[in-house]
Amino acid sequence: MINLILFGPPGSGKGTQAAKLAKAFNLYHISTGDLFRHEMQNETPLGLEAKKYMNKGELVPDEVTIGMLSNKLDEQVGKVDGFIFDGFPRTQPQAEALDKLLDLKNTAISLVLALEVGEDEITKRILDRAKQSENPRPDDLDESIIRNRFQVYLKQTAQVADHYKQADKFVTLDGIGSIDEIFDSLQAAVNDIK
Ligand code: AMP
Repeated sequence: MINLILFGPPGSGKGTQAAKLAKAFNLYHISTGDLFRHEMQNETPLGLEAKKYMNKGELVPDEVTIGMLSNKLDEQVGKVDGFIFDGFPRTQPQAEALDKLLDLKNTAISLVLALEVGEDEITKRILDRAKQSENPRPDDLDESIIRNRFQVYLKQTAQVADHYKQADKFVTLDGIGSIDEIFDSLQAAVNDIK
């Protein structure tokens, strides 16, 4: 199996690139943000719980997020060639839980691909994304919530990189450029491990 993590701040292009990589390498794309939004739309108890945090740009508690991710893995293992995780793990406990869950399935993370984009570019991109969308995400509409998401990334998520750097499974790529240019560099990094 190939199991990739697409890492980087909100608005760095993880969702777009994860979908393209999933197609190119026949991987199952798991976006915890998308899973939470789906639960919110269906007004499930999980969705209503997640909404309290998402609308402020805060992280949903680890036990809720890890439980949801674990269910998704159980559902898909055996059916796919691997996974691409987008927006997960976002904390050290999530990274440790992911290692254990994959180990139970006799697999592991192959590579973490980190997209680097600065705060002002991120804020501009997310506000543009909201303007272009017919149904914008509530957390994309307000600049202070976007900046809070970036701060949450710096304070709670950025350090997760060290977990994978220690295992020599971490590649940093420039997240500024065209979608195709960035995709080419991501694809080249994945081909290097094959
Ligand atoms: P995203 O679509 O990845 O930008 O995620 C949108 C929001 O969903 C985040 O701001 C968090 O509130 C929540 N979320 C998504 N993934 C996670 C995660 N791994 N841990 C905690 N909260 C998450």
